Amino acid sequence: MSCDGDTLDCSACHGAGFTGLHECPRKMVNSEIFEGVRSALRAKVYNIWPVSGGSQDQSRAFMQLFDIVSDEVNRVEAEEMKKNRASS
Ligand SMILES: [Zn+2]
Repeated sequence: MSCDGDTLDCSACHGAGFTGLHECPRKMVNSEIFEGVRSALRAKVYNIWPVSGGSQDQSRAFMQLFDIVSDEVNRVEAEEMKKNRASS
């Protein structure tokens, strides 16, 4: 989860809006979550769902994770596009 850097009591960034990692991010999540995020990315990028069928056939928990991962991918892509436009 992230804040916009406007919350001084944010335990992750203390109001800076970003934070550096001092260890592998894989250590910060358990393997179940890591695999869930990988599956969500697979669904987002390659349209491959963990359970056969479509989005309606996936678990509610997976679709919640999928939405979070999708939003984050879209946000990063929009940021990259903005950066590329600014530098060209
Ligand atoms: Zn924060």
